[in-house]
Amino acid sequence: NSYNVYTKFLDKLKNTSIDVVPSVKSTGCNGLCEKGPVVKILPDEISYFKVKEADVDEIVEKTILKGEVVDRLLYFDTNAKKRIVSHKDASFYKHQNKIALRNIGEIDPQSIEDYKERGGYKALEKVLFSMTPEQVITEIESSGLRGRGGAGFPTGSKWRTCYQFENNPKYVVCNGDEGDPGAFMDRSVMEGDPNTVIEGMIICAFAISSNKGFLYIRDEYQLARKNMQLAIESAMAHGFLGKNIMGSGFDFDLEIVRGGGAFVCGESSALMASIEGSVGEPRAKYIRSVEKGLWDQPTVLNNVETWANVPPIIMKGADWFKSIGIEKNSGTKVFSLVGKVKNTGLVEIPMGTTLRELVFDIGGGIIKDRTFKAVQTGGPSGGCIPKEHLDVSMDFDSLNNIGSMMGSGGVIVMDDTTCMVELARYYMEFLAEESCGKCTTCREGISTMVKILNNITSGNGKMEDLDLLESLSGTIKEASLCGLGKTAPNPVMTTLKYFRDEYIDHIVNKK
Ligand code: SF4
Repeated sequence: NSYNVYTKFLDKLKNTSIDVVPSVKSTGCNGLCEKGPVVKILPDEISYFKVKEADVDEIVEKTILKGEVVDRLLYFDTNAKKRIVSHKDASFYKHQNKIALRNIGEIDPQSIEDYKERGGYKALEKVLFSMTPEQVITEIESSGLRGRGGAGFPTGSKWRTCYQFENNPKYVVCNGDEGDPGAFMDRSVMEGDPNTVIEGMIICAFAISSNKGFLYIRDEYQLARKNMQLAIESAMAHGFLGKNIMGSGFDFDLEIVRGGGAFVCGESSALMASIEGSVGEPRAKYIRSVEKGLWDQPTVLNNVETWANVPPIIMKGADWFKSIGIEKNSGTKVFSLVGKVKNTGLVEIPMGTTLRELVFDIGGGIIKDRTFKAVQTGGPSGGCIPKEHLDVSMDFDSLNNIGSMMGSGGVIVMDDTTCMVELARYYMEFLAEESCGKCTTCREGISTMVKILNNITSGNGKMEDLDLLESLSGTIKEASLCGLGKTAPNPVMTTLKYFRDEYIDHIVNKK
């Protein structure tokens, strides 16, 4: 649909008297995904939403040729209760601070020239010609950047550990295997601004002395793979990748590896096994992958969003990054805001923004103004957060403290019509299918929990099932090998904690 609108503009503008055809650009998603295709007309920033091919003639004739606004295509801001001419004035965007998403919706992702026009590859130039590896690592450490893939491990500390190992080769890996239902942060970055990921990876490679990197991208992300491949080829052609980068004498190659769609391959050791050509199964991490990762060599692995933060930190400095967010959680986090919320889409907010601000100020509140019930953060391995915690700060530590987790940034909003037992059952079914089967506790334990949940939601549950669910949760968490198993019981544990009455209602009333 977006592509048809784009080509219709090209066709229509060919027949006008003004020479604007070279300026028509197809960009990545600017965040309000459900309101696309979006057309933005510069320099006045007039933004039209849900544009159809049939609207193009009117936009060209009225807005581009006469400067008039087509009211019906403007965004209706439900908080401000009015139509907004420039999308930047809408509540959805006003509270955001875009660092990782800074170029998306602004550039043609298939044009390296567009990326360069917005300062692209300047950070790489700075690193190669005016910084030592030690200085690069110190800058990332001082910024407080934590891995955006889920665990929130300090990025600079990971780089320093890898830098200190002397055995070569070393590898740099990008985890683009985003698998949480409802999450599409990394996909949008790879589709909308692929060069920033590449630039972040080369900077790390220079810092740790690596000459080879891999981008692991899930099979379903075809446009992301295409745009990343085109960006790699353009970066090679412009001297940003390959031998003797920008004449600095530093070499770095980057290769895309297609993931097969297994959720567990988002786990670092399974991902590396998959890149090596083995079955994508996690391994015990007595030795961390930063010491013995790909082919048992020192390896730095970060996710897409983490890499996208690196070039701006190098250009603007650690102090600038630390001035955004809160102590120990600096910078911003990208969330995919979905579910029963009015404005769904991609949101980048400073760490420390509250859940209430995210759902109501940015998300516009609950659809049909129903009652907010809970959100699920952190994907299937995360947990649900009830309305009592609406003022929780959205950062790694605060979410952990209330039994949920940041994960990679999926936020699914639920209203008062959502059955929390059904929700837990859905996630457990997903995890039962995605368990690699290596550990008995994960393989058998999750399936047993699904059977119990099926009984409860079909009116055949017993009160003692609740104790059994709790006891199984503890065993699975304790005895499973990898993060999938260790976090799998979270949806059940948090719904039992906050919505136990709904389980009891199913059991007592046999429904
Ligand atoms: Fe596989 Fe589950 Fe064990 Fe992880 S915890 S290794 S997914 S069986």
